[in-house]
Amino acid sequence: MATIDVVLGVEIEGTRVSFGLVDKFGNYVLEEKIPMKAHEPPESLFLRLNKKFNDIYSSVSDKYKLLGIGVAAPTANYATGTIENSSNLNWKHVNVVELVQKYWDIPVVITNDANAAALGEARYGVAKNFKNFIQITLGTGLGSGIVVDGNIVYGTDGFAGEIGHTTVVRNGRHCGCGRQGCLETYVSTSGIIRTVSELLAMHNDESVMREIPIHEMTSKLIYKAAINGDVVANTAFETTGQMLGESLANAVAILSPEAIILSEGLALAGDLIIRPTKFHMEKNLLNLFKGKVQILASGLTTGNVAILGACALIWHELQLPKHTLRVVYAE
Ligand SMILES: [Zn+2]
Repeated sequence: MATIDVVLGVEIEGTRVSFGLVDKFGNYVLEEKIPMKAHEPPESLFLRLNKKFNDIYSSVSDKYKLLGIGVAAPTANYATGTIENSSNLNWKHVNVVELVQKYWDIPVVITNDANAAALGEARYGVAKNFKNFIQITLGTGLGSGIVVDGNIVYGTDGFAGEIGHTTVVRNGRHCGCGRQGCLETYVSTSGIIRTVSELLAMHNDESVMREIPIHEMTSKLIYKAAINGDVVANTAFETTGQMLGESLANAVAILSPEAIILSEGLALAGDLIIRPTKFHMEKNLLNLFKGKVQILASGLTTGNVAILGACALIWHELQLPKHTLRVVYAE
């Protein structure tokens, strides 16, 4: 019987590992997750993952042929196949490609979640027709993946595209990276919470936000308040969009993309974030770029973005001539 080619996309997060078996068109054959255990060595995590996957795959392996594995994870380095100093995972230096290939003797590639999301958009989402675009994920941090001439920009060390850690306010908010004033301390789900608490402290406007203890504040609650007309919540979205728009105007001057795609977290607020972002980007754009760059919401279903992205990454890699692969094939 003829088999259908599929790849495995894996997303590693601080609390769980999710995976999906996906065909060329982005259709899921199966999807599962396992929880991360505190202080578990990576070797034992991948052993559990392998067991869980095989239990499920064995029932469909006569119909589907697994060609490769793509992994999306924080601080994952495409060039070396490693995850380095991930504060989310508490891993110092782990060669994920080698570990995964202990169990599966097929091509394996790894990249960070934002780059994976960019590849997912390019293959399955709203960026299908773009060769030059910037993918921005607005979760607890701000991740970005940059595509130029159809290729992800990795840079010398595999870490290119950290727009979230460009300085937007000199001596501004403290960032998890150890510096101050990074874009992601303002433009992210955690950033907008900080903005709301600053606004509440600085102004006397009536706001439903005043009744929410700061540790219970979420970007979703801010969104709900904003659509119900809360002034503070609306101001927070406006200033967040302004900071993002101004930063994107700078990024456009450097990269000249056709589009900027916003996904996850704050991006789910739709027009509340997209409208001010667009307005302030246009306002600050160099004349020759004005009116040319689209800002779009993600075309991928949230929750599946990184898995689909990891699948897109390995499909892309499998299409490349073998000699151009840097780490995926062990000799
Ligand atoms: Zn930073």
